[in-house]
Amino acid sequence: MKITGKVAVITGASRGIGKATAIELAQRGAFVIVNYRGSEAAALETVAEIKSAGGDAVCMAWDVSDYAECEKNIKQIIDTFGRIDILVNNAGICVLEDFLSADSFENRDKHFDINIKGVWNTTKAVLPSMFKTGAGAIVIMSSVTGDMVADPGEVAYATSKAALVGFTKAMAREVADKKIRVNAICPGYVLTPLVEGMAKQSDPEDPKRAIQAIADAVPLGRLADPTEIGELAAFLGSSESSYITGAQIVIDGGSTLPETTSMGQ
Ligand code: NAP
Repeated sequence: MKITGKVAVITGASRGIGKATAIELAQRGAFVIVNYRGSEAAALETVAEIKSAGGDAVCMAWDVSDYAECEKNIKQIIDTFGRIDILVNNAGICVLEDFLSADSFENRDKHFDINIKGVWNTTKAVLPSMFKTGAGAIVIMSSVTGDMVADPGEVAYATSKAALVGFTKAMAREVADKKIRVNAICPGYVLTPLVEGMAKQSDPEDPKRAIQAIADAVPLGRLADPTEIGELAAFLGSSESSYITGAQIVIDGGSTLPETTSMGQ
């Protein structure tokens, strides 16, 4: 309950990890702004679920890749709700593509615009209000992909997620004297619409097989539930993690652990 009364913005909270994070933060007493880009019905559903569980939230649409939109909407949030205490930079995309395919520049730019510039834009728009209140917690949804592991077709995605580790560390240094903490979460595979889409891309005939194959390669034998990532985000957003900053926390069921698939088995 160390976030009761705090105002939290979660980007990309209409579904998946962002939705679970919004629910977890609201359950712990935060007032939540559920950001989305196009999925209004899903965002309204997130808000309805939060309210029916006794929490409070609103949803607001903006595209994180557009700085002017970020600035306008963040200003509106501050004018209306007074401040922002917690920012979870979660919005992101992942589209598999061969590096040599014809439109790989377009795919690269989409990933960089949303996954990297989206975090940059939203953080830049929010920080002045955290400076004013003299406190804040920023959580960045990176990934084990890029900084630690990768699969074929993930060059654009992996590059964007690895960049967020650098962003986290540099930003944590830059704002530490203002009592603002910045941390990255690096999930392994989480069962969300994004991963279901990747599985369809990877095995259009049998996407369930692709999901099962991921689970089989994880020491804990399954993908993460979005709630498990949301719980970690809520911890990093709360004062329970008051001495953690600049960290990248891996939450992957041990998926980056195996040294071989043969030894001792
Ligand atoms: P998801 O199910 O596809 O949800 C993505 C969310 O981001 C949606 O709410 C979507 O809203 C929003 N979004 C996308 N582009 C946006 C934009 N330009 N502006 C604002 N919102 C935007 O994805 P997820 O699996 O929950 O992933 C969430 C984050 O976790 C991503 O950053 C992803 O890279 C990271 N991650 C995921 C996994 C995993 O296994 N799932 C693992 C590691 C890291 P709209 O539909 O309205 O666009």
